[in-house]
Amino acid sequence: MTAPGAGPANFHRQSAMKKRPYNFSAGPAALPEPVLQQAAEEMLDWHGSGMSVMEMSHRGKQFTRICDEAEADLRELLSIPDDYAALFMQGGGLGENAILPLNLIGRRGARAADFVVSGSWSAKSFKEAERYGDVRMAAGSQSCAVIDGCEQAPWTYMPDPATWNVRPEASFVHLCSNETIGGVEFMEWPDPASLGAPDTVLTVDASSHILSRPMDVTRAGVIYAGAQKNVGPAGVTLVIVRKDLLGHALPVCPSAFDYALVAANDSRFNTPPTYGIYIAGLVFKWLKQQGGVAGIEAVNRAKAELLYGYLDSTAFYRNPVHPSVRSRMNVPFLLHDESLNAEFLAQADAAGLLQLKGHKSVGGMRASIYNAMPLAGVQALVDFMKEFERRHG
Ligand SMILES: *Cc1c(COP(=O)(O)O)cnc(C)c1O
Repeated sequence: MTAPGAGPANFHRQSAMKKRPYNFSAGPAALPEPVLQQAAEEMLDWHGSGMSVMEMSHRGKQFTRICDEAEADLRELLSIPDDYAALFMQGGGLGENAILPLNLIGRRGARAADFVVSGSWSAKSFKEAERYGDVRMAAGSQSCAVIDGCEQAPWTYMPDPATWNVRPEASFVHLCSNETIGGVEFMEWPDPASLGAPDTVLTVDASSHILSRPMDVTRAGVIYAGAQKNVGPAGVTLVIVRKDLLGHALPVCPSAFDYALVAANDSRFNTPPTYGIYIAGLVFKWLKQQGGVAGIEAVNRAKAELLYGYLDSTAFYRNPVHPSVRSRMNVPFLLHDESLNAEFLAQADAAGLLQLKGHKSVGGMRASIYNAMPLAGVQALVDFMKEFERRHG
Protein backbone atom coordinates (compact mmCIF):
# COMPACT_ATOMS: atom_id res chain seq x y z
CA MET A 1 0.00 0.00 0.00
CA THR A 2 1.27 3.45 -0.87
CA ALA A 3 0.64 6.20 1.63
CA PRO A 4 -1.04 9.33 0.24
CA GLY A 5 1.51 11.80 -1.05
CA ALA A 6 4.36 9.28 -0.95
CA GLY A 7 5.57 10.21 -4.42
CA PRO A 8 9.09 11.30 -5.32
CA ALA A 9 8.37 14.94 -4.45
CA ASN A 10 7.76 13.93 -0.87
CA PHE A 11 10.75 11.63 -0.65
CA HIS A 12 13.11 14.13 0.86
CA ARG A 13 10.69 15.43 3.47
CA GLN A 14 9.60 11.93 4.48
CA SER A 15 13.09 10.51 4.66
CA ALA A 16 14.20 13.49 6.71
CA MET A 17 11.41 12.90 9.21
CA LYS A 18 11.40 9.12 9.50
CA LYS A 19 14.13 7.33 11.40
CA ARG A 20 15.86 4.83 9.13
CA PRO A 21 15.91 1.18 10.29
CA TYR A 22 19.20 -0.41 11.37
CA ASN A 23 20.68 -2.44 8.52
CA PHE A 24 22.87 -5.41 9.50
CA SER A 25 23.67 -6.53 5.94
CA ALA A 26 27.04 -8.22 5.38
CA GLY A 27 27.42 -6.39 2.09
CA PRO A 28 26.58 -4.32 0.24
CA ALA A 29 26.16 -2.78 3.66
CA ALA A 30 24.87 0.32 5.40
CA LEU A 31 26.64 3.62 4.76
CA PRO A 32 26.88 6.49 7.27
CA GLU A 33 23.67 8.49 7.06
CA PRO A 34 25.41 11.90 6.79
CA VAL A 35 27.27 10.58 3.73
CA LEU A 36 24.02 9.56 2.04
CA GLN A 37 22.50 12.94 2.89
CA GLN A 38 25.43 14.86 1.47
CA ALA A 39 25.42 12.73 -1.68
CA ALA A 40 21.68 13.41 -2.08
CA GLU A 41 22.24 17.16 -1.73
CA GLU A 42 25.08 17.12 -4.26
CA MET A 43 23.38 14.73 -6.67
CA LEU A 44 22.34 17.28 -9.32
CA ASP A 45 25.11 19.85 -8.88
CA TRP A 46 28.46 19.07 -7.33
CA HIS A 47 29.95 22.23 -5.76
CA GLY A 48 28.46 24.59 -8.38
CA SER A 49 29.88 22.63 -11.31
CA GLY A 50 26.41 22.19 -12.79
CA MET A 51 27.06 18.44 -13.01
CA SER A 52 26.45 15.33 -11.01
CA VAL A 53 29.68 13.53 -10.18
CA MET A 54 28.35 10.72 -12.40
CA GLU A 55 28.42 13.08 -15.39
CA MET A 56 31.98 14.37 -15.07
CA SER A 57 34.98 13.44 -17.16
CA HIS A 58 37.28 11.24 -15.16
CA ARG A 59 40.15 13.39 -16.44
CA GLY A 60 38.51 16.77 -15.74
CA LYS A 61 39.62 19.10 -12.95
CA GLN A 62 36.62 18.43 -10.70
CA PHE A 63 36.97 14.66 -10.67
CA THR A 64 40.75 14.89 -10.42
CA ARG A 65 40.23 16.83 -7.19
CA ILE A 66 37.68 14.30 -5.88
CA CYS A 67 39.97 11.35 -6.61
CA ASP A 68 43.17 12.97 -5.32
CA GLU A 69 41.45 14.02 -2.09
CA ALA A 70 40.00 10.54 -1.58
CA GLU A 71 43.45 9.02 -2.01
CA ALA A 72 45.07 11.55 0.35
CA ASP A 73 42.41 10.92 3.03
CA LEU A 74 42.78 7.15 2.69
CA ARG A 75 46.55 7.49 3.07
CA GLU A 76 46.14 9.64 6.15
CA LEU A 77 43.58 7.32 7.75
CA LEU A 78 45.69 4.19 7.31
CA SER A 79 49.11 5.90 7.63
CA ILE A 80 50.10 4.50 4.24
CA PRO A 81 53.81 5.24 3.67
CA ASP A 82 55.12 6.85 0.48
CA ASP A 83 56.63 3.62 -0.76
CA TYR A 84 53.12 2.19 -1.17
CA ALA A 85 50.66 2.99 -3.97
CA ALA A 86 46.97 3.34 -3.03
CA LEU A 87 44.77 2.45 -5.98
CA PHE A 88 41.05 2.54 -6.76
CA MET A 89 40.32 -0.39 -9.03
CA GLN A 90 37.41 -2.58 -10.16
CA GLY A 91 36.69 -6.28 -10.01
CA GLY A 92 35.86 -6.68 -6.30
CA GLY A 93 37.34 -9.17 -3.89
CA LEU A 94 36.86 -12.10 -6.23
CA GLY A 95 38.40 -10.17 -9.11
CA GLU A 96 41.47 -9.65 -6.92
CA ASN A 97 41.71 -13.41 -6.43
CA ALA A 98 42.91 -13.46 -10.04
CA ILE A 99 44.37 -9.95 -10.35
CA LEU A 100 46.72 -10.40 -7.39
CA PRO A 101 48.40 -13.62 -8.64
CA LEU A 102 48.51 -12.20 -12.17
CA ASN A 103 50.52 -9.27 -10.79
CA LEU A 104 52.66 -11.03 -8.22
CA ILE A 105 53.17 -14.72 -8.84
CA GLY A 106 55.65 -14.11 -11.67
CA ARG A 107 57.83 -11.97 -9.41
CA ARG A 108 59.99 -14.96 -8.60
CA GLY A 109 61.08 -17.83 -10.85
CA ALA A 110 59.19 -20.54 -8.99
CA ARG A 111 55.79 -18.94 -9.74
CA ALA A 112 54.68 -20.19 -6.34
CA ALA A 113 52.22 -18.86 -3.76
CA ASP A 114 51.01 -20.15 -0.40
CA PHE A 115 47.59 -19.65 1.17
CA VAL A 116 46.21 -19.60 4.68
CA VAL A 117 42.73 -21.08 4.30
CA SER A 118 40.56 -19.97 7.21
CA GLY A 119 37.07 -19.85 5.75
CA SER A 120 34.94 -19.38 2.66
CA TRP A 121 36.70 -16.34 1.25
CA SER A 122 40.28 -17.53 1.58
CA ALA A 123 39.21 -20.92 0.19
CA LYS A 124 37.99 -19.12 -2.91
CA SER A 125 41.23 -17.15 -3.19
CA PHE A 126 43.23 -20.37 -2.97
CA LYS A 127 41.18 -22.12 -5.66
CA GLU A 128 41.32 -19.22 -8.11
CA ALA A 129 45.08 -18.78 -7.76
CA GLU A 130 45.65 -22.40 -8.78
CA ARG A 131 45.09 -21.28 -12.36
CA TYR A 132 48.23 -19.13 -12.31
CA GLY A 133 51.03 -21.15 -10.77
CA ASP A 134 52.21 -23.58 -8.14
CA VAL A 135 49.83 -22.90 -5.28
CA ARG A 136 49.73 -24.62 -1.90
CA MET A 137 48.00 -24.34 1.43
CA ALA A 138 50.33 -22.95 4.12
CA ALA A 139 47.81 -23.58 6.91
CA GLY A 140 44.11 -24.12 7.33
CA SER A 141 41.28 -24.33 9.83
CA GLN A 142 39.24 -26.86 7.85
CA SER A 143 39.48 -29.47 10.67
CA CYS A 144 38.26 -29.51 14.25
CA ALA A 145 40.88 -28.38 16.77
CA VAL A 146 41.33 -27.85 20.48
CA ILE A 147 42.50 -24.29 21.19
CA ASP A 148 43.15 -23.13 24.77
CA GLY A 149 40.98 -26.00 25.95
CA CYS A 150 38.06 -25.06 23.66
CA GLU A 151 36.88 -27.58 21.08
CA GLN A 152 36.58 -25.63 17.87
CA ALA A 153 34.59 -26.59 14.76
CA PRO A 154 36.10 -25.97 11.29
CA TRP A 155 36.37 -22.28 10.28
CA THR A 156 35.87 -21.03 13.86
CA TYR A 157 39.52 -20.30 14.63
CA MET A 158 42.61 -18.87 12.92
CA PRO A 159 45.67 -21.03 12.27
CA ASP A 160 48.51 -19.82 14.50
CA PRO A 161 51.24 -18.16 12.35
CA ALA A 162 53.83 -20.31 14.17
CA THR A 163 52.31 -23.29 12.32
CA TRP A 164 52.20 -21.72 8.84
CA ASN A 165 54.29 -23.61 6.34
CA VAL A 166 55.49 -20.89 3.96
CA ARG A 167 57.87 -21.95 1.20
CA PRO A 168 60.91 -19.69 0.91
CA GLU A 169 60.51 -19.62 -2.88
CA ALA A 170 56.86 -18.49 -2.71
CA SER A 171 56.22 -15.05 -4.14
CA PHE A 172 53.53 -14.37 -1.55
CA VAL A 173 51.55 -15.88 1.31
CA HIS A 174 47.90 -14.94 1.34
CA LEU A 175 45.60 -14.27 4.29
CA CYS A 176 41.96 -13.21 4.56
CA SER A 177 42.15 -11.09 7.69
CA ASN A 178 38.41 -11.04 8.36
CA GLU A 179 36.36 -14.02 7.24
CA THR A 180 33.02 -12.31 6.66
CA ILE A 181 30.94 -15.51 6.63
CA GLY A 182 32.52 -17.36 9.56
CA GLY A 183 32.98 -14.19 11.62
CA VAL A 184 36.66 -14.86 12.31
CA GLU A 185 39.11 -11.94 12.48
CA PHE A 186 42.88 -11.99 12.45
CA MET A 187 43.67 -9.20 14.91
CA GLU A 188 47.37 -8.63 14.28
CA TRP A 189 48.99 -9.63 11.00
CA PRO A 190 52.20 -11.58 11.47
CA ASP A 191 55.55 -9.96 10.90
CA PRO A 192 56.69 -11.58 7.62
CA ALA A 193 60.21 -11.83 9.03
CA SER A 194 58.87 -14.34 11.57
CA LEU A 195 57.56 -16.74 8.91
CA GLY A 196 60.93 -18.17 7.88
CA ALA A 197 60.61 -16.98 4.27
CA PRO A 198 62.27 -13.57 4.12
CA ASP A 199 61.57 -12.89 0.43
CA THR A 200 57.93 -13.95 0.54
CA VAL A 201 55.48 -11.07 0.99
CA LEU A 202 52.22 -11.16 2.92
CA THR A 203 49.09 -10.33 0.90
CA VAL A 204 45.82 -9.62 2.66
CA ASP A 205 42.16 -9.63 1.69
CA ALA A 206 40.86 -7.05 4.18
CA SER A 207 37.51 -6.50 2.40
CA SER A 208 35.31 -6.71 5.44
CA HIS A 209 37.31 -4.89 8.12
CA ILE A 210 39.55 -2.36 6.40
CA LEU A 211 39.36 1.02 8.16
CA SER A 212 37.66 -0.51 11.21
CA ARG A 213 40.81 -0.09 13.34
CA PRO A 214 44.49 0.79 12.92
CA MET A 215 46.35 -1.75 10.75
CA ASP A 216 50.06 -2.00 10.18
CA VAL A 217 50.15 -1.62 6.40
CA THR A 218 53.91 -2.19 6.33
CA ARG A 219 53.50 -5.83 7.34
CA ALA A 220 51.84 -6.57 3.98
CA GLY A 221 53.05 -6.27 0.39
CA VAL A 222 49.50 -5.99 -0.94
CA ILE A 223 46.21 -5.27 0.83
CA TYR A 224 42.96 -5.27 -1.10
CA ALA A 225 39.34 -4.66 -0.18
CA GLY A 226 36.06 -4.55 -2.05
CA ALA A 227 34.38 -1.31 -1.01
CA GLN A 228 30.87 -2.53 -0.34
CA LYS A 229 31.41 -3.69 3.24
CA ASN A 230 33.09 -0.79 4.99
CA VAL A 231 34.11 1.82 2.43
CA GLY A 232 31.40 2.73 -0.08
CA PRO A 233 29.24 1.33 -2.86
CA ALA A 234 29.96 -1.90 -4.73
CA GLY A 235 32.17 -1.37 -7.76
CA VAL A 236 35.30 0.13 -6.17
CA THR A 237 38.17 -2.04 -4.97
CA LEU A 238 40.96 -0.57 -2.85
CA VAL A 239 44.42 -1.93 -3.58
CA ILE A 240 47.38 -0.87 -1.45
CA VAL A 241 50.62 -2.20 -2.90
CA ARG A 242 54.29 -1.73 -2.04
CA LYS A 243 55.93 -0.02 -4.99
CA ASP A 244 58.86 -2.43 -5.36
CA LEU A 245 56.30 -5.17 -6.14
CA LEU A 246 55.02 -3.31 -9.21
CA GLY A 247 56.07 -4.31 -12.72
CA HIS A 248 56.02 -8.10 -12.42
CA ALA A 249 52.64 -8.82 -14.05
CA LEU A 250 52.39 -11.94 -16.18
CA PRO A 251 52.13 -11.18 -19.92
CA VAL A 252 48.50 -12.39 -19.91
CA CYS A 253 47.47 -9.90 -17.20
CA PRO A 254 44.89 -7.46 -18.66
CA SER A 255 46.42 -3.99 -18.87
CA ALA A 256 43.53 -2.45 -16.93
CA PHE A 257 44.38 -4.82 -14.05
CA ASP A 258 48.14 -4.32 -14.11
CA TYR A 259 48.92 -2.60 -10.78
CA ALA A 260 51.93 -0.83 -12.32
CA LEU A 261 49.88 0.76 -15.10
CA VAL A 262 47.06 1.72 -12.76
CA ALA A 263 49.57 3.26 -10.32
CA ALA A 264 51.40 5.16 -13.07
CA ASN A 265 48.06 6.69 -14.10
CA ASP A 266 46.82 7.65 -10.61
CA SER A 267 43.96 5.09 -10.78
CA ARG A 268 42.83 6.54 -14.10
CA PHE A 269 44.43 4.22 -16.65
CA ASN A 270 40.90 3.66 -17.87
CA THR A 271 37.62 5.05 -16.57
CA PRO A 272 37.46 4.18 -12.87
CA PRO A 273 34.18 3.79 -10.93
CA THR A 274 33.93 7.54 -10.49
CA TYR A 275 30.76 7.79 -8.43
CA GLY A 276 31.89 5.02 -6.09
CA ILE A 277 35.22 6.78 -5.54
CA TYR A 278 33.36 9.98 -4.71
CA ILE A 279 31.19 8.21 -2.11
CA ALA A 280 34.26 6.46 -0.66
CA GLY A 281 35.84 9.92 -0.37
CA LEU A 282 32.84 11.16 1.61
CA VAL A 283 33.12 8.10 3.88
CA PHE A 284 36.82 8.90 4.47
CA LYS A 285 35.91 12.47 5.50
CA TRP A 286 33.21 11.12 7.81
CA LEU A 287 35.74 8.72 9.34
CA LYS A 288 38.16 11.56 9.99
CA GLN A 289 35.36 13.34 11.89
CA GLN A 290 34.95 10.19 14.03
CA GLY A 291 38.57 10.45 15.14
CA GLY A 292 40.00 8.35 12.33
CA VAL A 293 40.52 4.61 12.62
CA ALA A 294 41.49 4.85 16.30
CA GLY A 295 38.25 6.72 17.04
CA ILE A 296 36.09 4.26 15.13
CA GLU A 297 37.93 1.32 16.68
CA ALA A 298 36.77 2.42 20.13
CA VAL A 299 33.16 2.42 18.92
CA ASN A 300 33.61 -0.92 17.15
CA ARG A 301 35.07 -2.43 20.28
CA ALA A 302 32.15 -1.20 22.39
CA LYS A 303 29.64 -2.58 19.85
CA ALA A 304 31.34 -6.00 19.76
CA GLU A 305 31.62 -6.20 23.56
CA LEU A 306 27.95 -5.38 23.95
CA LEU A 307 26.81 -8.04 21.48
CA TYR A 308 29.25 -10.85 22.40
CA GLY A 309 28.75 -10.06 26.07
CA TYR A 310 25.04 -10.69 25.71
CA LEU A 311 25.53 -13.82 23.56
CA ASP A 312 27.83 -15.30 26.21
CA SER A 313 25.39 -14.50 29.02
CA THR A 314 22.60 -16.75 27.76
CA ALA A 315 22.14 -20.31 26.52
CA PHE A 316 19.32 -19.15 24.24
CA TYR A 317 21.85 -17.89 21.64
CA ARG A 318 25.41 -18.85 20.87
CA ASN A 319 28.39 -17.79 18.77
CA PRO A 320 30.72 -20.65 17.78
CA VAL A 321 33.94 -18.67 17.14
CA HIS A 322 36.98 -18.92 19.44
CA PRO A 323 36.90 -15.83 21.72
CA SER A 324 40.41 -14.73 20.68
CA VAL A 325 39.43 -14.28 17.03
CA ARG A 326 35.80 -13.21 17.15
CA SER A 327 35.20 -10.65 14.44
CA ARG A 328 34.28 -7.15 15.50
CA MET A 329 32.54 -6.71 12.16
CA ASN A 330 30.56 -9.89 11.47
CA VAL A 331 28.84 -11.69 14.33
CA PRO A 332 27.15 -14.98 13.42
CA PHE A 333 24.84 -16.38 16.07
CA LEU A 334 22.56 -19.39 16.36
CA LEU A 335 19.32 -19.81 18.28
CA HIS A 336 19.32 -22.86 20.55
CA ASP A 337 16.04 -23.78 18.87
CA GLU A 338 16.56 -23.38 15.13
CA SER A 339 12.84 -23.78 14.46
CA LEU A 340 12.44 -20.20 15.75
CA ASN A 341 14.71 -18.72 13.05
CA ALA A 342 11.95 -17.60 10.67
CA GLU A 343 9.98 -15.99 13.48
CA PHE A 344 13.08 -14.24 14.81
CA LEU A 345 13.86 -12.78 11.40
CA ALA A 346 10.30 -11.68 10.66
CA GLN A 347 9.95 -9.95 14.02
CA ALA A 348 13.37 -8.34 13.78
CA ASP A 349 12.49 -6.96 10.36
CA ALA A 350 9.20 -5.58 11.70
CA ALA A 351 11.17 -3.95 14.55
CA GLY A 352 13.43 -2.15 12.07
CA LEU A 353 16.39 -4.52 12.33
CA LEU A 354 17.10 -5.52 8.74
CA GLN A 355 19.04 -8.26 6.91
CA LEU A 356 19.99 -10.43 9.89
CA LYS A 357 19.71 -13.78 8.08
CA GLY A 358 22.89 -15.82 8.38
CA HIS A 359 24.87 -17.08 5.41
CA LYS A 360 23.45 -20.37 4.17
CA SER A 361 26.72 -22.20 4.88
CA VAL A 362 26.58 -21.27 8.60
CA GLY A 363 22.82 -20.94 9.16
CA GLY A 364 21.16 -18.96 11.94
CA MET A 365 21.74 -15.21 12.03
CA ARG A 366 24.57 -12.84 11.29
CA ALA A 367 24.79 -9.25 12.49
CA SER A 368 27.28 -7.26 10.46
CA ILE A 369 28.21 -4.22 12.50
CA TYR A 370 30.57 -2.29 10.27
CA ASN A 371 31.74 1.28 10.88
CA ALA A 372 28.42 2.79 9.79
CA MET A 373 26.44 0.88 12.45
CA PRO A 374 26.07 3.08 15.55
CA LEU A 375 26.25 1.68 19.09
CA ALA A 376 22.53 2.50 19.38
CA GLY A 377 21.85 0.01 16.57
CA VAL A 378 23.61 -2.81 18.42
CA GLN A 379 21.80 -1.81 21.62
CA ALA A 380 18.48 -2.01 19.73
CA LEU A 381 19.43 -5.49 18.49
CA VAL A 382 20.39 -6.71 21.97
CA ASP A 383 17.16 -5.29 23.43
CA PHE A 384 15.19 -7.10 20.73
CA MET A 385 17.08 -10.37 21.36
CA LYS A 386 16.43 -10.15 25.10
CA GLU A 387 12.73 -9.57 24.53
CA PHE A 388 12.59 -12.46 22.03
CA GLU A 389 14.30 -14.71 24.56
CA ARG A 390 11.88 -13.62 27.29
CA ARG A 391 8.94 -14.62 25.14
CA HIS A 392 10.39 -17.94 23.92
CA GLY A 393 12.96 -18.98 26.52
C1 LIG B 1 32.56 -9.83 0.20
C2 LIG B 1 33.92 -10.38 0.20
C3 LIG B 1 34.57 -10.77 -0.99
C4 LIG B 1 33.89 -10.77 -2.33
O1 LIG B 1 33.84 -9.55 -2.90
P1 LIG B 1 33.17 -9.31 -4.32
O2 LIG B 1 33.25 -7.83 -4.41
O3 LIG B 1 31.77 -9.84 -4.28
O4 LIG B 1 33.98 -9.99 -5.34
C5 LIG B 1 35.86 -11.23 -0.90
N1 LIG B 1 36.50 -11.32 0.28
C6 LIG B 1 35.90 -10.98 1.44
C7 LIG B 1 36.65 -11.11 2.72
C8 LIG B 1 34.61 -10.49 1.43
O5 LIG B 1 34.00 -10.14 2.58
